[in-house]
Amino acid sequence: MASHNPDVAEQKQLRARALEIGNTLEASAVDELFGLLKCRFPEVRRLAASALGKLAPRHPNEMLVTDYLAQAAETDDHPQVRQYALKALSKYPNASVALLDRLRDLARNPDLKDYVRTAAAEAVAAAQEANRTAYARKHHWCTRCRRRINEEDFMRGMELFGKPYCLHCLDERILESKNFEIVVNEAKAKRTEDGTAVQSQGERRIADYLSLKGVRYVYDERYRMAGDVRIRPDFYLPEFDLYIEYWGMDTPEYVENMKKKLFLYQRAGKKLISLSFRDFDRLEAILEEKLSRYIRL
Ligand SMILES: [Zn+2]
Repeated sequence: MASHNPDVAEQKQLRARALEIGNTLEASAVDELFGLLKCRFPEVRRLAASALGKLAPRHPNEMLVTDYLAQAAETDDHPQVRQYALKALSKYPNASVALLDRLRDLARNPDLKDYVRTAAAEAVAAAQEANRTAYARKHHWCTRCRRRINEEDFMRGMELFGKPYCLHCLDERILESKNFEIVVNEAKAKRTEDGTAVQSQGERRIADYLSLKGVRYVYDERYRMAGDVRIRPDFYLPEFDLYIEYWGMDTPEYVENMKKKLFLYQRAGKKLISLSFRDFDRLEAILEEKLSRYIRL
């Protein structure tokens, strides 16, 4: 007789135990359910998964529970166990947020039974909803005045500044950022004594030196150097048909561009004085020395 088969007796007993835990909401028996979730009888595993779902209102260790359930949902060789593990995960939407990628993979895995994929999609939906609610609850206040704001204002602030603002504070914030841009641009524009905006301290000192010596220069204009190639010299001294370049950096990209520029000067047969940030400490002296090769100062 079947009931004398020890396997059947064991399964019957374990099955009853899984059902009992689920029905009595015996939260302290969570570890026992983890064990049953790995038992050799699929029907017992299915009931253990189901019982873990029922225990959700008792707030067991959600991270641990969902970890076991996700593992069952991904690896159990019985589709019904997977289905019940996923159904149980839907009961832990907050903890399932961390599993969203894995749940999505299951929901679109074509090798799985339809009902498994459906259960996975439901778990995804539950986790997404929990995620959205938590996010909204957390951020629905103006960062600045703490006034309550609606979803639309919330999204607008997040888009523009990565923080939520009420409409009033958002206007303020926009104005401030415009002022900030102006300040930054002013700081960028280094001015020479004759009022020319230059890009670096080195260029400013070159410009001031040339002015001091009464050498007329044109700063940062476009010149056709050779054939169809345009380059932009730092300084051009029209009376002497002489160019000055100040190399401000030595990053690989900058050096590469510098080499190209030097080649173009050379090919066009132009006179060039080359200075670099390495000359910064003695910039005027070095410039004077190089200039004196072309100009009587
Ligand atoms: Zn505000």
